[in-house]
Amino acid sequence: MLPDIENLLKLQDIDKEIRRLQDEIAELPKRVAAIEHKLAGTRAQLEKAQTAVKADEAARRKYDTSIKDLREKISKYRDQSLAVKTNEQYRALMTEIQFAEKEITAHEDKILELMVNADARDKEVKATQAELKEETAEIEKEKQQARQRTLEDEKLLAEARGQRDQLRGGIREDLLRQYERVSKFRGSGIAEVRDHKCMGCQVILRPQTYNDVRSGKDIVFCDSCQRILYLSPKEELVEKKETVHRPKRHHPKVDAPQAWYYRPEFASDGEVFLCLTNAGGQASRRVYDIHTGRLIGDILIREGNYREAFPEDITGSTRLNGGWSEEELDGFGTELPMVILDSLHADLDAARVEAESGSRGKHEVPTAPTSPAAS
Ligand SMILES: [Zn+2]
Repeated sequence: MLPDIENLLKLQDIDKEIRRLQDEIAELPKRVAAIEHKLAGTRAQLEKAQTAVKADEAARRKYDTSIKDLREKISKYRDQSLAVKTNEQYRALMTEIQFAEKEITAHEDKILELMVNADARDKEVKATQAELKEETAEIEKEKQQARQRTLEDEKLLAEARGQRDQLRGGIREDLLRQYERVSKFRGSGIAEVRDHKCMGCQVILRPQTYNDVRSGKDIVFCDSCQRILYLSPKEELVEKKETVHRPKRHHPKVDAPQAWYYRPEFASDGEVFLCLTNAGGQASRRVYDIHTGRLIGDILIREGNYREAFPEDITGSTRLNGGWSEEELDGFGTELPMVILDSLHADLDAARVEAESGSRGKHEVPTAPTSPAAS
């Protein structure tokens, strides 16, 4: 893996952690505010209950005063009744006294009612006070925890920012800009390639792009989402295993009716894969670009078998494994499918490893094909 990619992946992790910490720090005051809001509700409830108690007490005092006044009035009427001259005057006073006594009874009833209510109100006030006390303690605890958490988060955030700055210093500036620009719009700036797909946007890569990512020589961008691409470490591992532990490469048969070759130079087209086939006494030749898998030029047909018909193409080419039917070849059209291109590349890699290690099969030598052979 390229060092820039490794650093970008680390940077992505750090960026994620920074976002998480920032979110958490922003979330804590909101949680405290929510509890405080509840606390304010309980406080209002308590105030309402206390106001009601005070109103009841005022009403009771009013009734008490009124009763006292009425009793004084009755006492005055009784004194007057001793001095009256006529029965009529006496009866009038008695009526007044009766009226006042009725009023006293009514007031006493009211006072009794208020006393009964006072018990309930008292209970309500006490319960709300207890609730308030509990909530206040809770919020103090929460606030303390929030403060502690925020302090820790801020410390971690400062550390993460330091790490980020350090990492940024080790990444090419143009890459960093691309990473940040794409991150801003898409939430991430770097994406894994798995099964020929960009895992950032799920689009299948063009063969050329995929090969560039696989070669790991330079930074490659996704054509569709612009994220920086890297090969999934799992695939990279498989790839390595395939190239390292390939003790026995399957060797193509010399007399196969179809033969695939790798040619490092083909006219002005550079590296190509050649597909030579024999059919009905004729030989055909297809030429494909090894990076894009695109068919170059027309299919060439000559008389005889391909070894006789295209000796100049075979000499100096590397023979590869591969065999597909004529219909399949037609079906590929002007571009080899990715799987075919992959298998040819894999076999080419294996052939090179084999050539370097000096092992030679008993069949055809991959780097220097022999003349028409009788098997
Ligand atoms: Zn993409």
